[in-house]
Amino acid sequence: MPSSEVAIITGAASGIGRALAKHYAHRGVRSVIGTFPGDPHDPEETLRLVEEAGGIAVIHEVDVRTTESVDAFAERALTEFGRLDYAVANAGILRNSPLNELSDDLWNDMLNVDLTGVLRTLRAGSQRMHDGGALVAVSSIAGGVYGWEEHAHYAAAKAGVLGLVRSVAVELGPRGIRANAVIPGLIETPQSLDPVNSLGPEGLKRAGKDIPWGRVGTPQEVADVIGFLTSHAARYVTGQSLIVDGGLTVKMRA
Ligand code: NAD
Repeated sequence: MPSSEVAIITGAASGIGRALAKHYAHRGVRSVIGTFPGDPHDPEETLRLVEEAGGIAVIHEVDVRTTESVDAFAERALTEFGRLDYAVANAGILRNSPLNELSDDLWNDMLNVDLTGVLRTLRAGSQRMHDGGALVAVSSIAGGVYGWEEHAHYAAAKAGVLGLVRSVAVELGPRGIRANAVIPGLIETPQSLDPVNSLGPEGLKRAGKDIPWGRVGTPQEVADVIGFLTSHAARYVTGQSLIVDGGLTVKMRA
């Protein structure tokens, strides 16, 4: 039987967010597809995949750097579908900067998206959610598990996401609202395919050989775990962070 549930997903015009919209379409969960107009990704392609899977979604422009924009985004779930069950703070940026060049501005710009943007999304979502909903934030093995040279600001934001999620889980537990994080490993998306700020195609191929699973992950492999965390099957799971990395972080290196 199709579900009547509704989700908001930031950063859903590409990568993991797009794959999550597709996951929800298969489950009958209706989505508000968050798209950031500053990026070249095509939200219509996400909508096409949703409709191909028999799902329902609307596209909404959102910039997680402002509370006003995120509040309007979450509100769209109510005006369009009359309810909100799941809020997924997936939007993120990745920038490379050696510590010596990591100015206050670069630091603040990063945290404004990757940490405060997550707070804005979880806050706006939970305020509009009926009791019994679920929140998920996307962290990273960079910061969530490891350090990463020349990415201190990104790692700090992604580590901060974990403390944020744990505290929100404790605070919203009495309302029956769960909050969890996923910690993706190396996943092939526009972010990781960027050779300047991340590994790029060649770097991903090389790194994949050292992962126990033998390759980097797909966006769908992360999205399906977010789907699990926003499902009845995870109804007693809250305040947790689930690593999705093909075994990368448990492999001992001599
Ligand atoms: P992606 O670049 O395809 O997705 C990020 C999305 O965030 C994009 O659609 C982008 O437009 C959006 N975005 C950027 N700035 C925004 C803003 N100010 N407001 C709203 N949206 C904005 O890459 P992805 O890998 O799918 O990233 C999704 C999440 O996964 C990010 O939080 C990222 O840090 C995290 N992550 C990715 C990997 C990986 O290997 N790809 C690993 C760990 C964590």
